[in-house]
Amino acid sequence: MFEVSVTQSFAAAHALRHYKGKCENLHGHNYRVEVTVAGERVDPLTGMLADFVEVKQALRDAIERLDHTNLNDTPPFDTLNPSAENIAFYLCEQIQCRLEKRANVAQVKVWETDNCVAVYRP
Ligand SMILES: [Zn+2]
Repeated sequence: MFEVSVTQSFAAAHALRHYKGKCENLHGHNYRVEVTVAGERVDPLTGMLADFVEVKQALRDAIERLDHTNLNDTPPFDTLNPSAENIAFYLCEQIQCRLEKRANVAQVKVWETDNCVAVYRP
């Protein structure tokens, strides 16, 4: 099994709904996102599983509409709670859609802080 990962960051505000504690108040994060694509075989000519540039562009496109927003006002998080778990799920779907069949997204990690990370594996 081969895996290729790329990371990008974005800044956004959110307030967790249905949650009692500090994070129910509006606050911001510098989110870090790591996308991993996986596959059994590499291209015999290039020796590559996926093009880093293409995966990075798919991630960039997906996070662009979230960057410097209040997530609570930004679909789908105007209705879906903007937790790190839900952000990872949403980004996974968006990135897979952009990559189509060229690469399979195996995992998306979303860090809210250096010490807190949520992982989604489809
Ligand atoms: Zn937060």
